[in-house]
Amino acid sequence: MNVGLTKAMHRAGRQLILGALAAVLLLNGVLALLAWQEREAAVLAAAAQAQHAAHMVLQRAETKLQQIDYLLTGISEVVAARGNGLRPDDLYLHRLLVRRNALADGVRWLFLVRPDGLLAVTSQDFPAPGIDVGDRRYFSEQKEDWERGLFVGEVLTSRVQGETFIPLSRRVVSDGGLFFGVIAAGMDPERLRGLLQAQELPPGFESGIFLPEGLPLACEMSLCATANLAEQPLFAAHLPHRQQGTVRGVPLLGAETVIGAYEASRRYPLVVAVQVPEAQLLAAWRDWLWGRVPAALGLNLALLALVGLAYRQFTRRREAVYALERANAELERRVAERTAQLQLSEARARAFMNTAMDAVVVIDGTSRILEFNPAAERMFAYRGEEVIGQSLSLLVPEELRAAHEAYVVRAGGRTDVRFMGQGREVQGRRRDGSRFPIEVTVGSACSAHGILHVGIIRDITERKEAEWQLQRLATVDGLTGVFNRRALMEQGEQLFALACRYDWDLAVMMLDADHFKAVNDHYGHHVGDAVLKRLAERVGAVLRSTDVLGRLGGEEFGIILPETDMDGARQLGERLLEAIRASGLRLDDGRELRFSVSIGVASRGAADADLDALFRRADAALYAAKRGGRDRLEAAPAS
Ligand code: GH3
Ligand code: MG
Ligand code: MG
Repeated sequence: MNVGLTKAMHRAGRQLILGALAAVLLLNGVLALLAWQEREAAVLAAAAQAQHAAHMVLQRAETKLQQIDYLLTGISEVVAARGNGLRPDDLYLHRLLVRRNALADGVRWLFLVRPDGLLAVTSQDFPAPGIDVGDRRYFSEQKEDWERGLFVGEVLTSRVQGETFIPLSRRVVSDGGLFFGVIAAGMDPERLRGLLQAQELPPGFESGIFLPEGLPLACEMSLCATANLAEQPLFAAHLPHRQQGTVRGVPLLGAETVIGAYEASRRYPLVVAVQVPEAQLLAAWRDWLWGRVPAALGLNLALLALVGLAYRQFTRRREAVYALERANAELERRVAERTAQLQLSEARARAFMNTAMDAVVVIDGTSRILEFNPAAERMFAYRGEEVIGQSLSLLVPEELRAAHEAYVVRAGGRTDVRFMGQGREVQGRRRDGSRFPIEVTVGSACSAHGILHVGIIRDITERKEAEWQLQRLATVDGLTGVFNRRALMEQGEQLFALACRYDWDLAVMMLDADHFKAVNDHYGHHVGDAVLKRLAERVGAVLRSTDVLGRLGGEEFGIILPETDMDGARQLGERLLEAIRASGLRLDDGRELRFSVSIGVASRGAADADLDALFRRADAALYAAKRGGRDRLEAAPAS
């Protein structure tokens, strides 16, 4: 399997998973960021709201105190201007206080305290009850501190009326600097509580107005009733550090972490604080968050589903690629196996081609030579490279080429051996133009390049020679080289049949050596043989090519003369007699041996049923010639 591809696929899979994880992380990061921003926005809005509320409440409280301060200052100046101190029976001052009290909103009562701490004049009762308030801080602090401005004290319960009030006081001093006493106002605590309530804070917010030392003047908080405020972070930690500020996620008043703000007055001993418990503020945000959880989960699921789908697609692709790889490897293996087989087969074929005794010539469908083995090179005397690509006609004798090419055209795409030939005997042509007999077997095969013909060619020169020798032995007379009796008679019968059929003339001649016994006896058998040979030679030289000569036996010959009538035969016979008379045989001792023959001739007539009949009549004529003195011709009478 392709290692590089496998690695690449694994890497791609890993990247896909990492990418999907990154996408999931990114999505959830964005969602978390959105949630965090929402939380921050809620916190910031709450802090801003608290800060604004604290500031507004402080401003209004300062304005309220300022009004009362002006009131007290005014009364103080009137008392100082009259210059006769504070007496309980001073109706003028009582009326002054009543009038001023009626003008002052939110003030329960006004009263003047003498330097010894006894109540002098009040806006309530006349004469004032002789109660000692010398222990009250609104008196003692003014008495002891010349520089003291407006005193604001913690909420007290009146010793006269039994109602709660916030004491505010100023020192009354004569023009000469004499301490006349203290002018004080009892402020209705509800006026400050009203300022807090007027602010209309959202649910969960709580607020309060305090003295800087941690005493509540108006407190809209559950905490105010129970705890020791002075120990709270606002007074213990924040206020000593900064006069105003906002807090987030730390306690301000109480143990809970809050979002809140506080501001201390620069003119009066006043601190306003507004806070909302963080848990309560974030409850709304949590509700908002929970409302979005299903959507976020849905988004996550959708993303995971998409990733899952993509991964499934990817794994399918990967499986497909692996399968393809496996198929490819299998194919490669099979190709390699097949190639090895082909190489083996090719090597075998090559070895066969190179070692074959027979010539092997491979041609294509257009008779072009593709292969030419060493045996073919030896047989046709061509080198392979000379004939490869040439037409097979090169190996065919010129006069046979046209026929061969026509045969190839007819063969066309046929591959049947019977048509192509098995053991066909034809003629081959060597490079020098000489021809020789060959036996060809053609096999054919279809290849990717079209049809191929494989010719196995055997040189049959020697076999033909042997066959011809056998043929000769069967038909030719061993001594004289002319046809033997059987061959002569076979040919004669064919010629006789033709002559009968077409009514052609046909004559036969019988020829017998004269006194041949005597030659044998006198000169020996071998001379007799030589005479027979010479005789046949002479006769053959005189005969026409169409005449057929054969040895009938002994010193007797037969001649068949096609298309020859009796006259023609006679003339030929006379010429033969003449030629034989003229020839002789030179003997070893230098003498010339002369010999002669007698001839009997018969011409085919209507009564001659067969060749034998004709020969019988020629034999009779020969007998007549012998009797007539020899060395002569006798014609058989027409039948
Ligand atoms: P005639 O003129 O009447 O024909 O006399 P002839 O001697 O030829 O008579 P015949 O036909 O009786 O003799 C034939 C002789 O030819 C007998 C035989 O010895 C001889 N002869 C036959 N065949 C051969 C042969 O092949 N070679 C030789 N040397 N002699 C042969
Ligand atoms: Mg004889
Ligand atoms: Mg004879």
